[in-house]
Amino acid sequence: MTQPDCTTPSPVLVWVPGVAGTVADGSEPFRIADADDPQLLVTDLVATRGDGVFETIGVFDGAPVNVGPHLRRLGRSAQLVELPSPDLDVLSRAIDAAIEAHAPVPELTVRVMMTRGVEGTGTPTAWIHARTADDWSRYRAGIRVVTLDRGLSTTVAETSPWLLAGAKTLSYAVNMAATREAVRRGADDVLFTSTDGYCLEGPTSTLLVKRGDTWTTTPASAGVLPGTSIASVFAMLEREGQSVREELMTPADVASADAAWLLSSSRLAAPIAQLDDTPLTVDTERTAQILAVLKGQDPQSA
Ligand code: PLP
Repeated sequence: MTQPDCTTPSPVLVWVPGVAGTVADGSEPFRIADADDPQLLVTDLVATRGDGVFETIGVFDGAPVNVGPHLRRLGRSAQLVELPSPDLDVLSRAIDAAIEAHAPVPELTVRVMMTRGVEGTGTPTAWIHARTADDWSRYRAGIRVVTLDRGLSTTVAETSPWLLAGAKTLSYAVNMAATREAVRRGADDVLFTSTDGYCLEGPTSTLLVKRGDTWTTTPASAGVLPGTSIASVFAMLEREGQSVREELMTPADVASADAAWLLSSSRLAAPIAQLDDTPLTVDTERTAQILAVLKGQDPQSA
């Protein structure tokens, strides 16, 4: 991954004090703030406890993709961690304001953050941060993936809901540690497995597997994040008459598939070129179509 260089346009910050309907004086409940100025208080529970939820939205040529599904998922994550319900209309307008205020770039990454707020206040903190996307072109060409045991079973969401499996929380230190472990093992990314032997998801991505005309992903009930990207790809495939399903797969199932990808909103489609020691075929044609659909474009034009 290449970091943006010093010619990269400045990021934009939109501060959203009215995320939970807490600003009621008739003014727009958000304001553009200086992204280079300190904003967050050290007593915010996201700083002291990692207590918050977030979303990452891809914006391609100025057009954000899947805003509704992302915001609905933010609402679901907030519910799972017992935060007040975010006002999705306010957030949607704040996202538009952030995109509008950013210099035009081909790919923008917009983060929507909501925390439990400053300790003792009970008022959530929220902001939108829009920045030029990292360069993911290398990932989009094919990646080496290692399986790592997440240490949780596929029944975790039911048996231990307090572990927040499937919520997009701001406690991503474990996900980042797993990614560093992948690099130590000479790979680019991780496919988490469950203690009962099934593939789950990547630290920041959803698994997609192709076998003939059948396309499979991990069921959300196994404790994975319900991905917005997989929903878009499945909708495209269903329009084509392909068969799509959610089913548990073992690493051997994935290694013997026709092709497999890790999907996410900013990195889009990363074809798996190697899973542990097994090489996989990279389906460049399908990858191009999936990339197009995840950028909000017509897959037929790919
Ligand atoms: N799974 C996890 C753990 C993630 O963090 C993400 C995205 O960041 C995804 C899956 C993919 O979700 P989406 O396609 O909505 O970006």
